[in-house]
Amino acid sequence: MSHRSSHYEQINNQAQETLRHILDVPDNYKILFMQGGGTGIFAAVALNLISKTGSADYVVTGSWSAKAANEAKKYGKVNLVLPPRDNYLNIPDQSTWSLDPNASYIYYCANETINGIEFPYIPEAKGIPLVADMSSNFLSKPINVSKFGVIFASAQKNIGPAGITVVIIRDDLLDQPMPSCPSILDFTIMAKFNSLYNTPPCFCAYVMGKVFKWIDKNGGVKGMEVNAVTKSSMLYSTIDDSNGFYSCPISKDVRSRMNVPFRITGQEELEQLFLEESKKAGMIQLKGHRSVGGLRASLYNAVSISDTKVLTDFMAEFRAKYH
Ligand code: PMP
Repeated sequence: MSHRSSHYEQINNQAQETLRHILDVPDNYKILFMQGGGTGIFAAVALNLISKTGSADYVVTGSWSAKAANEAKKYGKVNLVLPPRDNYLNIPDQSTWSLDPNASYIYYCANETINGIEFPYIPEAKGIPLVADMSSNFLSKPINVSKFGVIFASAQKNIGPAGITVVIIRDDLLDQPMPSCPSILDFTIMAKFNSLYNTPPCFCAYVMGKVFKWIDKNGGVKGMEVNAVTKSSMLYSTIDDSNGFYSCPISKDVRSRMNVPFRITGQEELEQLFLEESKKAGMIQLKGHRSVGGLRASLYNAVSISDTKVLTDFMAEFRAKYH
């Protein structure tokens, strides 16, 4: 199917319209479907926005915001708002952040997938455009889009197969890319061509449009939030009520509803056994990211409450067997 056909244009437009509807995206924001994943957008954000003043603020709260800051350093000055840390277990209070009043934008990651840290609030940007990486909690709750300059999310968590990345950008932030910005990462070109500047990942856009409709039919983002609260509470209580058998190192006020990292306290060999036994019980992908170790359960929108119960029941049985 040609991406220049009216058939495809309809798929492209419908996906945009449904997303605008479910997330209540105001008219002065463009919705773009881009390629290059979240990592491509790390570069695109700087290439499109940093030239205004030549510098940007990065709030590093975990692995993904650290990577984004490193990418931006290639294109301008990066001010690290928080002192560097060896591990990420909390979000320092906003009153301690060293923000630069001259920054072109303030960047943060709304949910650190590897570390399991989620912002429970939108940072106060004091008139500077706020850029948020929502790759791993996009569409898991309502958000006030008008508080942001740019929101982006790679698809492969809550919206569809990898290969497409949603960017939502306020109109006044277009038209300022660096001259060296590659066309494929240029928000202004993508907006002008309605995301059809070059061949788009058509199948990904098609599936994504269906997922947006599914969210709409299943209570919208409010419904997703109710489920996310229920599922994550089930898992965190299983951990917290285990008499120390399981533990989650993340500060309670910033624990992620999407990605729950946990340990079998002080017993690494049992974590290996946990992975083997859970696999036999039909569950995979419970290993923590190699950079932090331990275990991690991801509770994206597609994971149901009953799926979560299978995991929490398994955890209770495992604890009874090996405590
Ligand atoms: N940001 C976050 C929060 C992520 O979780 C990921 C991927 N896991 C990325 C960015 C990078 O996305 P991609 O792999 O699509 O480049």
